[in-house]
Amino acid sequence: MHEYPMIINGEGVTGDAWLTVVNPATGEDLGRVPAAGADDVAAAMASARCAQRDWAAVPDTDRCALLMQAADVLEANAGPLAELITAEQGKPLGGPGSMFEVEGAVAWTRVPASLELPAETVFEDDTRRDEMIRRPLGVIGAIAPWNWPVLIAIWQIVPSLRMGNTVVIKPSEFTPMATLEVVRLMNTVLPPGVVNAVSGDGEVGRRIVTSPEVAKIMFTGSVPTGREIMAASAPNLCRLTLELGGNDAAIVLPDVDPEAIAMDLFWGAFINMGQTCACAKRLYVHDDIYEDVVAALDAVAERIPMGNGLEEGNLLGPVQNRPQFDKVVSLVDDARARGARIVRGGRPLDGPGLFYPVTLVADIDEDAPLVTEEQFGPVLPILRYQLLDDAVARANASPVGLGASVWSSDPGRAEDVARRLDAGTVWINQHGVIHPMVPFGGSKQSGFGLEFGIEGLKSVSRPQVISHRKEAVAGAA
Ligand code: NAD
Repeated sequence: MHEYPMIINGEGVTGDAWLTVVNPATGEDLGRVPAAGADDVAAAMASARCAQRDWAAVPDTDRCALLMQAADVLEANAGPLAELITAEQGKPLGGPGSMFEVEGAVAWTRVPASLELPAETVFEDDTRRDEMIRRPLGVIGAIAPWNWPVLIAIWQIVPSLRMGNTVVIKPSEFTPMATLEVVRLMNTVLPPGVVNAVSGDGEVGRRIVTSPEVAKIMFTGSVPTGREIMAASAPNLCRLTLELGGNDAAIVLPDVDPEAIAMDLFWGAFINMGQTCACAKRLYVHDDIYEDVVAALDAVAERIPMGNGLEEGNLLGPVQNRPQFDKVVSLVDDARARGARIVRGGRPLDGPGLFYPVTLVADIDEDAPLVTEEQFGPVLPILRYQLLDDAVARANASPVGLGASVWSSDPGRAEDVARRLDAGTVWINQHGVIHPMVPFGGSKQSGFGLEFGIEGLKSVSRPQVISHRKEAVAGAA
């Protein structure tokens, strides 16, 4: 059985207690990682605290050069890393799968390490000049989910390091191995203690959040956990970036060619088996083209192979874990019981493995849990609308607002609709297409704080104003 140690102060660390990791495509045990105890979390936080002062003193250009070296190491290990991601997370090696995830991780390491963030003159007159500079916050606690275990870890770690912070990351208990391996690889080029990783469940996350050493939490995960973290972090007024769940609406206007948009719409909804924060999770289609869009999506779904992601040719894999699988089963069963039309899929496939087919659900009520809740799986409810105002109102009715999309052959009309949607990002004629230079973050209960690009660097640093007096000051006699 493969064992992946935690990384604390540059050293591999194990313990007495272990967590077993299961391959979701086979149901077999894949390996194990340590279950961190209170002492391990304290040691990781202390290691990050000790390393932070020296790391912040490294000139910015040297820090960037080290991060570029870390990107090279990840790139050189892309093949084995991708196989590890597929084995523990389930997404296939090819298509928008685990090789794509590792390539993204490399790009999201190089970009923050190549951005410039010069001092900003915020005011100047004859008497004074005020500059704003960016200082590190200190130790960043990073807590990650199971859907993109390497990419999201990199989003949390790299901007933090670039700005002179040090990091303690806790991956999800469902997908810890690839993240521990990434942190091990980064430690082959970075000074010890700069990036540390502890493995375990929510209790380990709680210990990080409540540690007196932590200056900021970067959290990506569900809305309920986000709420718990916000409450638990109050006593030490720790800063937060909360990247939480979404229930993204995609609105299709009647002027599109259904077949022309079907492939992009499909991947907007089903990338990583729909287990992506900014997947299209509710599809609103104008009545005039409703059946054509349903048929075009069905035809695409027919052609996309699903199976063990380590076998060549598969583009869709299993659902990642049993609780998520059970949630998908129950949401679809409930939709069927309410009289919705199951166009495709709708029942779990035989094991081994947590395979659930791509499922298209038409003619479903707006108040069905499959519409009002985040399904986070390979199921798409497709809803009808007649008036655009009504579609916008229904899209905005959700308490969350991560992403949304508008599909139209008229860019001006699409932008008008986009500006009325309550979401952190609205894509036009695409969905979920993120980029390392483009800020990303939620509105409403999808959280707050931005990642990526210059805004992402700002959010893991604190502003400091240096105020210069211009008039000559009389020297002491
Ligand atoms: P989750 O909230 O169950 O767990 C996320 C992480 O938090 C895990 O590492 C877990 O161990 C830890 N945790 C659990 N309880 C904790 C606590 N009380 N204190 C500290 N840490 C705790 O989420 P998940 O099921 O792993 O991920 C799926 C969710 O993540 C979905 O809602 C999805 O939309 C969201 N997500 C959001 C984004 C985004 O950028 N907005 C990206 C990816 C996933």
